[in-house]
Amino acid sequence: MLDITALNNLLATPQKIVITTHHKPDGDAMGSSLGLYNYLIQQGHHTTVITPTDYPDFLSWMPGNQEVMIYTDKKEEAAILIADADLIFCLDFNNLSRINDMGELVRAAKAYKIMIDHHLEPEDFDDYRHWDINACAAAQLVYSFIVDILNNKALINKDVATCLYTGIMTDSASFRLPNTTSTVHRVVADLIDAGAPNSRIHELVYNSASENRLRFLGHCLTNCLEVLPEFNTAVITVNKQDIEKYDVNTGDTEGIVNYALSIASIRLAAFIVERDDKVKLSLRSKGDFPANEICKLYFSGGGHRNAAGGQSSASLQEVVNQFKLILPKYKKLLIQ
Ligand code: 5GP
Ligand code: MN
Repeated sequence: MLDITALNNLLATPQKIVITTHHKPDGDAMGSSLGLYNYLIQQGHHTTVITPTDYPDFLSWMPGNQEVMIYTDKKEEAAILIADADLIFCLDFNNLSRINDMGELVRAAKAYKIMIDHHLEPEDFDDYRHWDINACAAAQLVYSFIVDILNNKALINKDVATCLYTGIMTDSASFRLPNTTSTVHRVVADLIDAGAPNSRIHELVYNSASENRLRFLGHCLTNCLEVLPEFNTAVITVNKQDIEKYDVNTGDTEGIVNYALSIASIRLAAFIVERDDKVKLSLRSKGDFPANEICKLYFSGGGHRNAAGGQSSASLQEVVNQFKLILPKYKKLLIQ
């Protein structure tokens, strides 16, 4: 275990540091990781961000991105860095199964492990924890870690601010989700003051789609959307042939589930997609409907109440049927 003083003492001299985040990193995963990276390199720490897998192109413009190591591309090099590290920061996840094969390398590593996260039910693998399920993003927690725990607001430069802004913007669905409190807006104001080019960041993340991505979205909404009015639920189901036909890449499916949730009466939306080795589900909900409970109980996953994910090794049709069979159990919550 580490306390704040011991952590501050450690960080007072250059350390070997690995920062990692969850499988298929999203905006908050990359924003929080690169935000912390850009902070730590200013103090001379030898720091490497290692992601378990690749991530979407619309996130690959952030400062420090060119230094990110993708584990699946450089397994041996990554394993050495993890084994040699003095400190390993685990951002935007709290269970080592979320980083695939890297999980056991991190568990076995001699380094102090620091968890910065906002998901429910953390696994007990860390030596220091900055964890708050009320935070709207891990990037918000990196901000408070730097400002309140490390007392170093002066080092929130333009690069740090740009990455943290991106994390907060994407995980709060552009400052719309209920956890976007006045505190979050104050943090965001600080980040803009520190140089985060807010309008440009929106352009880079949200207006950088390919033509294919837009046509795929059209296909999903026209041909793959099923509305179940008796359960106030909408499901978008995408098979492998569609993925191939529209040349869908990492990140191209992100956010499509929100269109299903944008129908006025809908309280629960699912995006169910057939991948090479499994079926992946993304669930979104409105209000107090627990999307994460369905993912946890039935689809080996988890997440937040209003945004959760899971997977299954059953066939696409079986997963869709299973999902529909679960709905009657939640009818009361869905139709209130
Ligand atoms: P998405 O639908 O964008 O893949 O994921 C939405 C949320 O659910 C994210 O906060 C993510 O961390 C969480 N999530 C997605 N897939 C899984 C999973 O397989 N396991 C767990 N525990 N959480 C997941
Ligand atoms: Mn997050």
